[in-house]
Amino acid sequence: MAKFKGYVLQHGTSPVNGCPFVVIMTMDSGNTKTGNMCQVWILTENIHPVDAVNLGADDTVCGDCPHRKQSDGSRSCYVNVGQAPAAVWKSYKRGIYGKLSDLDLAVIKNRKIRWGAFGDPAMIDSTLVTIFNKHAAGHTGYTHQWRQPWAQWCKGVFQASCDSFADYLDASAHGWKTFAVVAKGKQSFSGKLCPATADNSQAQCITCSLCDGAKTDIFVEAHGSGGKYVTN
Ligand code: SF4
Repeated sequence: MAKFKGYVLQHGTSPVNGCPFVVIMTMDSGNTKTGNMCQVWILTENIHPVDAVNLGADDTVCGDCPHRKQSDGSRSCYVNVGQAPAAVWKSYKRGIYGKLSDLDLAVIKNRKIRWGAFGDPAMIDSTLVTIFNKHAAGHTGYTHQWRQPWAQWCKGVFQASCDSFADYLDASAHGWKTFAVVAKGKQSFSGKLCPATADNSQAQCITCSLCDGAKTDIFVEAHGSGGKYVTN
């Protein structure tokens, strides 16, 4: 089987607005925070990711995430869509990625998967996620869609992203493991500080992998007021 730099896992229709999206898994990553995990990108099928953000069409893949661009122009998402998401989308449009049928699942046997390097993994077909997680060595993932009825399959699979104590209480009461952003210097709600964000830490998601939706609550500190969040 030919090996590709990445694979198109799914062409889907957003449960948010009915618009098309594409799910791509890239096989190698130089991301120092995560380590070399397979990275899964959920991107608008026909709209460049930067345009999608600016037009508000990113709700196709990000749902109602509060870190999307606001009417005042501010955007607190930590992902720079002009970089990796744009590069992956352009590569997809050039046709360099393989199809799902080109992928031998044995290649992910010793790999860990980061579901949602950009985009919310709750958009992805749940069966596909289950099969891939069964074959992989581990995974991480986060969803802001944990209140949505169609995202309930993600409980136990991805962390519920929480932006306030009220979020944390609500998600916990409904059985989710949480990933919370707390103001710097403020008391955490629950769980462990993400070890990769501790001073002088060498920790990476690939070795830590606590954010698999099942193990524990995790929190990180927001850096500065209105600053970008250091998250997954
Ligand atoms: S706690 Fe979560 S985000 Fe932090 S290093 Fe571990 S898996 Fe990654």
